[in-house]
Amino acid sequence: MNFEELNLAPAILKAVQEQGYTEPTPIQAQAIPVVLAGHDLLGGAQTGTGKTAAFTLPLLQRLSESAPAQNKFGGKGIRALVLTPTRELAAQVEESVQTYGKYLELTSTVIFGGVGMNPQITKVKKGVDILVATPGRLLDLMQQGVLDLGQVQMLVLDEADRMLDMGFIHDVKKVLAAVPKDKQSLLFSATFSDEIRDLAATLLKNPQSVQV
Ligand code: AMP
Repeated sequence: MNFEELNLAPAILKAVQEQGYTEPTPIQAQAIPVVLAGHDLLGGAQTGTGKTAAFTLPLLQRLSESAPAQNKFGGKGIRALVLTPTRELAAQVEESVQTYGKYLELTSTVIFGGVGMNPQITKVKKGVDILVATPGRLLDLMQQGVLDLGQVQMLVLDEADRMLDMGFIHDVKKVLAAVPKDKQSLLFSATFSDEIRDLAATLLKNPQSVQV
């Protein structure tokens, strides 16, 4: 299998090739076609397997093929929301979004706790196509009324098991309640406890499972 066979747009392939990747990793080869086809996905993958590109590449592709949205503040509507357990992971994921999306017109930003809130408020009101966030700070912004998640079409929960281990389940559930029901959802986890299965059952509709 090579990247050309995955039906990714030339602008995305170019960015992937610049990273020196020659072939998709197993999680990428399995997950990318599922996400491009619009299905929900339950992904079993550890970090280091290439899972970030497995969801980022098809996410970028799907957004690049649909129209921009507008938020209620008159800014750009968030069409894809990626939740991660830690600020480090959030920053890494957003960097991947920038890297793989460098030849696309999409915008992204990252928000997490432990830093000042005002610059983040300005950014989310102005809006982006893709928001990467940790659940706690995202919820803070939601509760302040400065975040409009009403245009979300794609939702990714990355490292869902770590998110639950860190006690984010209630925050995650409140965020899920604020995004539209009709969306494509992807959940990645390295382990599958009953709690993760419950969360997956609540969130995912007819998901395809991919396990590496
Ligand atoms: P991740 O599991 O997403 O944290 O990715 C682990 C590492 O693998 C990152 O440094 C990526 O840049 C790298 N990587 C992702 N996909 C590929 C690929 N297809 N070929 C080679 N390296 C890759």
